[in-house]
Amino acid sequence: MFTIKGKTTDWELVIGLETHIEVLSNSKIFSGASANYNPTIAPNTQACMVDVAMPGMLPVLNKYCVEQAIKFGLGINAEISRHSRFARKQYFYPDLPQGYQISQPAEEPPVVGRGYVEIMGDDGNPKKIFIERAHLEQDAGKLKHDMHPTKSMADYNRTGVTLLEIVTFLDIKNPENNSYITSPDEAERYLREIREIARALGVSKANMEEGSMRADVNVSVRPVGEKTFRTRTETKNMVSFKFIKSAIEYEARRQIEIYENGGTVSQDTMRYSQSEGTTSVLRSKEDALDYRYFPDPDLLELEITDDEIERIRKTMPELPSATRARYINEYGLSEYDANRLTETVDISHWYDAAVDGKSARAKPVANWMISELFAHPENFDITNEIKENDDPDAPRIITPENISELVDMIASNEINGKQAKEIFIKMLDGERGTIHEIADKYGMKQITDTGAIESAVDEVIKNNPSQVEQYKSGKVGLLGFFIGNVMKATHGQANPAMVSDLLKQKLG
Ligand code: ADP
Ligand code: MG
Repeated sequence: MFTIKGKTTDWELVIGLETHIEVLSNSKIFSGASANYNPTIAPNTQACMVDVAMPGMLPVLNKYCVEQAIKFGLGINAEISRHSRFARKQYFYPDLPQGYQISQPAEEPPVVGRGYVEIMGDDGNPKKIFIERAHLEQDAGKLKHDMHPTKSMADYNRTGVTLLEIVTFLDIKNPENNSYITSPDEAERYLREIREIARALGVSKANMEEGSMRADVNVSVRPVGEKTFRTRTETKNMVSFKFIKSAIEYEARRQIEIYENGGTVSQDTMRYSQSEGTTSVLRSKEDALDYRYFPDPDLLELEITDDEIERIRKTMPELPSATRARYINEYGLSEYDANRLTETVDISHWYDAAVDGKSARAKPVANWMISELFAHPENFDITNEIKENDDPDAPRIITPENISELVDMIASNEINGKQAKEIFIKMLDGERGTIHEIADKYGMKQITDTGAIESAVDEVIKNNPSQVEQYKSGKVGLLGFFIGNVMKATHGQANPAMVSDLLKQKLG
């Protein structure tokens, strides 16, 4: 368990995440304006009358966004509510022209109810993280403070874009249930899992750098073994894994210090400073907002039928957790390898393309990817989009086909592992062509002709009588010495397994 050492006791962390993902759809949740929001689009060119809340404009729920939410809900093993409502969450802010945000009320079942995702826990075992709910809501606009020396500008392009807010669950009544996030690393793994599920389903790009995924981070601490939860703080609007982990750790230490000095933590909303790596109070509980939620009278209640849910369930692609299980059960990969290869959907697609259903390739391809390709991101196009690269100065992109060819040539004894590594290095250096072409060009082929290997073996044995003597008297570790010499004599081209077998035979 992840703990932080205090002066007199060890402390454990309790973390709750509220994650917003921007839902992919052509138009916004309640209007027909384009939802293809990105910050480079000219301000206010994608905001319609509904978005800027002109009097008399009525919202109409976008059915596709509801389907996206259902898809995501099924992806996190959640209950889909057959009945839910939209409510007005009221606050005033210049980027919110309606004067309220349409969301789903906190005290009612939202479209997606209780579910869970599975992540790797800090102890290396699978761990369920329970999710309380996921609800649909509108995004706000954006204020721009850098366009005019004395004025702030409002851009309503993002106003009304669909968000799905996913809230982790904490079983307050049953503190023994530890299916919640307990460390900065688990927080990162949870967010990555959410991201990959959203991407696999096409529900969201879920990209933190682009702002299509953001998280509010709730943190509390308690002495190891304490049975109740203590007061938490909430740090809003975090947009990178690194900052989230740093904010959690800083906030936990800050709270521990307060407790150790005899103080109490108050339920504040915090702000995180990226430059300092610190948190500070933004507003205290006394200033907590009362949003006065009430059902939006302009929108019908949302009814979802069993048939609709079943229809959507049938369109679900394989999710990262199923991919992981497939790699372990069908391909015999280790838990670690399966985790690495499902870190992103792009990576698993790349891997699947290279294995191409041939299970003999499964392990060697995994090894090449994890120990070689991951170390060379410039040559490893994980999106698998660059098929050919004509620019001689651009890095040589290694394709799934290259790696299948490489492992097949090793398996069929056309080249040995050492030669494969040399070919790989040549590709990193920019060498183009198929693996066969590169092998031919550099005269790399493996000697598997027993006669040729045998004469090299005999030669080495003849030239090293004293080592032969030592080997025979029990110093079997010398086998490597003999193999090395035979490989040298054959210019690295002999099949090492055959060399080893022949040597063992002849040395008795
Ligand atoms: P709010 O509506 O004020 O944002 P919620 O009850 O919805 O609060 O909780 C928000 C998040 O905070 C949830 O993920 C929840 O699990 C988490 N949370 C609640 N209590 C605690 C606590 N004591 N320590 C850590 N996280 C908590
Ligand atoms: Mg909250």
